[in-house]
Amino acid sequence: MTGAVSPDRRRFLTTGAAVLGAAASAQLWLPAAARAAEASLPDGVFSLGVASGDPLPDGIVLWTRLAPDPLNGGGMPSATVPVQWELAEDERFRKVVRRGTAQAQAKYGHSVHVDVRGLRAGRTYWYRFRAAGQLSRTGRTRTAPAAGSSGGTLRVALASCQNWQHGYFTPYADMLAQDPDFVLFVGDYIYESPPASTGPRRHEGSGEPYSLTQYRNRYAQYRTDPDLAAMHAGAPFVVTFDDHEVDNDFAGEIPQDPGKQTHDAFVARLAAAYQAYYEHMPVRATAVPDGPHIRMYRRLEFGRLARLNVLDTRQFRSDQATSQAGAQDPSLTMLGAEQKAWLLKGLRGSPARWNLIASQIMMAETDLKIGDGKLWYYDAWDGYQAERNAFLQEFKKVRNPVVLTGDRHLTMISDLKEDFARPGSAVVGAEFVGTSISSNGDQDQAAFHQQFDPLMPDNPHWKLLDAHRGYHLLDINRDGIDAQVRIVDTVVRPQATPSTLAKLRLDAGKPGVRLV
Ligand code: FE
Ligand code: CA
Repeated sequence: MTGAVSPDRRRFLTTGAAVLGAAASAQLWLPAAARAAEASLPDGVFSLGVASGDPLPDGIVLWTRLAPDPLNGGGMPSATVPVQWELAEDERFRKVVRRGTAQAQAKYGHSVHVDVRGLRAGRTYWYRFRAAGQLSRTGRTRTAPAAGSSGGTLRVALASCQNWQHGYFTPYADMLAQDPDFVLFVGDYIYESPPASTGPRRHEGSGEPYSLTQYRNRYAQYRTDPDLAAMHAGAPFVVTFDDHEVDNDFAGEIPQDPGKQTHDAFVARLAAAYQAYYEHMPVRATAVPDGPHIRMYRRLEFGRLARLNVLDTRQFRSDQATSQAGAQDPSLTMLGAEQKAWLLKGLRGSPARWNLIASQIMMAETDLKIGDGKLWYYDAWDGYQAERNAFLQEFKKVRNPVVLTGDRHLTMISDLKEDFARPGSAVVGAEFVGTSISSNGDQDQAAFHQQFDPLMPDNPHWKLLDAHRGYHLLDINRDGIDAQVRIVDTVVRPQATPSTLAKLRLDAGKPGVRLV
């Protein structure tokens, strides 16, 4: 992307008021306090960059947050500040198609979420913000294909798990070069861990975040990674959170370590964490939190080519099992009744060629016990056997289901089986566990294979296992999905060399995934 200031800046600044129309005249009626605040903002209000997200055929969310002192609460006065935005069909803003003024409010950390509508389907737009005479960098975004369209290719980058302390977010530099239509981020956008003295980078603050200000500072630090910031400015994101946006392995209102956090304290922590999450993500107003609750599960359509069901596998789940028998308790739920019904309805009635499910945690089985018997991870779908198995049965009736996952900090690409207890049962779908952007750092590949290769005979549905950092790139079209596992040679330095580890193929109408 180019820098913020285009040759058109002068024109935008001087004639902007004349063409802003209703939005601009509304600005004249701003309280005096707001106008005074706008005039006196410190430099660097756009330090956190820009982002866009949740593309519709005719709409997109544009995001920024005013934060001249990003690691210390933001550094903004408490007044509401008007932020002008404009969206154009060209990078130099000669053909501006939408303009307006949003109000950056202290109660949302002076974040701005503009839900632009009335746009053309399947096309690229550029956008930028202005506040107090300061201009943001230019962002590029893209709307979804037209409803009913079935041709073309949708390029999706699957990303997850970016631990600041484990490395630089170098896979995003390659991702930007691959020009995805959108980035699907399936959780662990931040980590709540305290600053550590080892590792290439160190978390801000002095401990785990609990308060809203502490979570804001943590998100702000992550956004200062230049590759992440550039990726946000380069393509829309579709995001959902996993556990580390709040607390490791939490379940609903139950923290990882109930002995260390009272219920009330954890509920307050959830509210702070969700609030900061909303403030920093390019999501619609439907995701404005209500105290310790946030609505993140949602559906996005990409013509008749793909339907994307984005899940929330944290807020509504039962507490994790602690034994093999417990994991098979039919009363355990991962999604909760309401979300489960919503997902089933969206799968059964789907007109889409590909039915994508963004799940934070792995759906295919991981049997950790060599030989007879099984041992599962109870935080993943394996720990919620009854509900998972019912979905696998359901998949037999769904057109081309593909599950897209994070959490494991590994590339794990699998067939989904009708019944993992019966190795000969039918293949009903496929799953991509999209390694991690930086979490686990530069792993010892030999040690990884020494540990995992002996498990392959117990997990014959695994098609590819790898422990490099990176992401997966999916080119989705009517006939199939061509997938690439894109990896980097390092995340402990700010620059890396990317490469393709493997290519895989899914054929429409033929469940399962294969290496090519
Ligand atoms: Fe993670
Ligand atoms: Ca076994």
